[in-house]
Amino acid sequence: MGRRARNLTGQRFGRLVAKYPTDKRSGTAVVWHCECDCGRSCEATSLGLTSGRTKNCGCIKKDITGFRYGRLTAIRPTDQVRHHTRVWVCLCDCGQECHVPLGSLTAGIVKSCGCLSKENWEKGYERMREANLRDSLVDGTNVSKLTTTPNSNSKAKVKGVCFDAGKYRAYITFQGKRHHLGRYSTIKDAEAARRQAEDILWGEFFDSHPELKRDKK
Ligand SMILES: [Zn+2]
Ligand SMILES: [Zn+2]
Repeated sequence: MGRRARNLTGQRFGRLVAKYPTDKRSGTAVVWHCECDCGRSCEATSLGLTSGRTKNCGCIKKDITGFRYGRLTAIRPTDQVRHHTRVWVCLCDCGQECHVPLGSLTAGIVKSCGCLSKENWEKGYERMREANLRDSLVDGTNVSKLTTTPNSNSKAKVKGVCFDAGKYRAYITFQGKRHHLGRYSTIKDAEAARRQAEDILWGEFFDSHPELKRDKK
């Protein structure tokens, strides 16, 4: 023997602080009375403490200090329990601290302070916007313009019909080209001409693009 037991008084091991050595021994190791951050006290062997195997009174079943989960690094446990697991303070790569239950970390449900899902949402939104832009110009046609809804400032109240020098003039614009469909004494006739042109020009277009929905009254 001859080797003096190490004095651990006041030293911290994880959540435990060694208070005083007891008379008990575990093999040759001294059993210490310790106080845990949770408020409870417990006994731990000097070997368990110094080797890093014993870090708390048992209140923290799984110590994940320093473990990484996505962008998060577990910093320290809190006293809270949520979804039956310990809530941990985590530091996100973006610099933000957040509180996450252990179960959400180990299950891979939470991987950031929230910055990741915000970025993913923004990426998704960007993709959606690009897809919409792509779809709206098919074969040089702006699909959103293929509509039977008249402009709000149109006097005739029928899309593609305007009142011109005592007559109703029908027209249709397709793929950047305006087609004149004639002048009519009644708005009904002008509208009929416009509808016929829609069926011919747009019908063909929508038939060859079945993925697009036609805005039809
Ligand atoms: Zn404890
Ligand atoms: Zn973050």
